[in-house]
Amino acid sequence: MVKMKTSIQLGKIIEIPIRLHISFLLILPLFAYAFATMNMPSGEWMQSHTFGLMNTPIGFGSMEDSLIRYISGTIITFVLFSCVLLHELGHSYVAKKYGIGIKSITLIIFGGISSMEEIPSDPKIESKVAVAGPSVSLAIGLSFYFAYRMLEFFALDIIRISVGMLAFYNFILCGFNLLPAFPMDGGRLLRSWLAKRMAYVDATNKAVSIGKTFALIMGMFGLFYGGFWFILIAFFIYIGASEEKKATEVTVALRGVKVRDIMTTDVKAVKPDMSISELVDLMFKEKHMGYPVAEDKIIGIVTFNDIRQIPPEKRDSIYVANIMTSEVISVHPDDDAIMALKLLSKHDIGRLIVMEDGIMVGIVSRADLVRSLELLGQLKL
Ligand SMILES: [Zn+2]
Repeated sequence: MVKMKTSIQLGKIIEIPIRLHISFLLILPLFAYAFATMNMPSGEWMQSHTFGLMNTPIGFGSMEDSLIRYISGTIITFVLFSCVLLHELGHSYVAKKYGIGIKSITLIIFGGISSMEEIPSDPKIESKVAVAGPSVSLAIGLSFYFAYRMLEFFALDIIRISVGMLAFYNFILCGFNLLPAFPMDGGRLLRSWLAKRMAYVDATNKAVSIGKTFALIMGMFGLFYGGFWFILIAFFIYIGASEEKKATEVTVALRGVKVRDIMTTDVKAVKPDMSISELVDLMFKEKHMGYPVAEDKIIGIVTFNDIRQIPPEKRDSIYVANIMTSEVISVHPDDDAIMALKLLSKHDIGRLIVMEDGIMVGIVSRADLVRSLELLGQLKL
């Protein structure tokens, strides 16, 4: 299956692949443009909220030379997104320290996403991982702020404005991420705080509804005061909250469940030279929708989906070897069921082969997982 590539890999830092989402490429020129043209002093709003600590323009709009403005705007955009990357690396570094694998860091439209292989279910660890990112942003913001204060009276305008902007936007990055709503870091902090007081699922549900309420208020605010960004962010938070709820429910339901518990064991392999019509008969007889293909060892997998496209009159002259998928992804019976689920969705396939000491001992399908999820759901009610 061909999947649309939505991100580009830039490189690796501390063994973590750093990716750029395509939405990011759209947002780069927008940011560069905004930085080049904005001339609002942060002071007007900031002074009443930060005791007058900062009074710097948050764009290069006051500079006369437009070429310099656009070059500076572009440079600041890149530096700022490096700061976003450092924020994400902060999360990743702490997660790694607690043995949580990081698949990748992706820079997207609103910032960054660190894909952890699992969400830490220990509230103490989750809060440490969550707080690491905003702490990095705060530290960067403070460093630029002190630099700004020192440069205030004797640096060139352009340097002073740049340093001030970087301080300002890193503070914003810190504050924005601390909003108490998923998928922000603040949502995770809220959940871990709640999870010390109640069951993990309940804590998630509560954090999700707080996040959704927050998003609604934010959306209303945007609607009445004409803030397009508020509406967009509110929407983003609302979706993020719902997704977190789903992901947590599945993770919690499958906790402690092993592949061994849910796999189908009476699986026979079929030969690659079996004709499709024979295979169809076998599927209907045994009511299995997929079979491993083996000669001496497993060489592929063939499923009902593969045979559907073949017209009945051709089923005698086409063989399993012609239509099977030769990329076989296997799991161990002692692997977690949640890992099997992740592999299925990552590769967008329907079944995995369960191998133990080089021998196939079963097969685990999406259907097996869904069935056990339903079962577990019923047991918990
Ligand atoms: Zn973060």
